[in-house]
Amino acid sequence: MIDNDDEVIVLTENVTIFEGETRKRAVNIRKRSDKLIKFAIRRYTENGIIACRAFEFDKFYKDIDKSYIEMHHIRPICQYKNVQQEQFLEEALKNIVSLCANCHQVVHLHNPCLDVKKVENAIQFSFQKSAI
Ligand SMILES: [Zn+2]
Ligand SMILES: [Zn+2]
Repeated sequence: MIDNDDEVIVLTENVTIFEGETRKRAVNIRKRSDKLIKFAIRRYTENGIIACRAFEFDKFYKDIDKSYIEMHHIRPICQYKNVQQEQFLEEALKNIVSLCANCHQVVHLHNPCLDVKKVENAIQFSFQKSAI
C-alpha cells in the first residue's frame, strides 16, 4: 500500500486507524425546490418507472430496484443570477433531468458538470465495445 507521501506501508494486524471524529461545518447551500422535484418525478415517470436519461438503469438491473433515481439540474442553481429565481414550471422542468446515482456522480465529477449526452454516449460506446 502506498500513502500520499509515496511511502510504502506494510499492512499488518497491528495497524490502527481512527474514524468518527466530530467536526462542525457551516456552509451556505442553495435550497432546491421540493415542489419542482415532485413535478419532475411526475413528468418523467412512465409505467411506474423513472428512467435514467443516460443509461437504461431499470433494464440493466431488472427487478433489483426500478425506483431509485435522482434529479439533476442541468444549469446549477448556484449559477442563478438572483439568490432566488422564480420561473414557470415548464421552464424549470427543462433544467431537470432524471439520472441514476452512478450517472449523476459521473456528471458531477467535472466542473462545470459534464453534459448528460456525453455520459450517455460514453456508456453506449462502452456497451458497443463489449458486444464485439
Ligand atoms: Zn446534479
Ligand atoms: Zn444512469
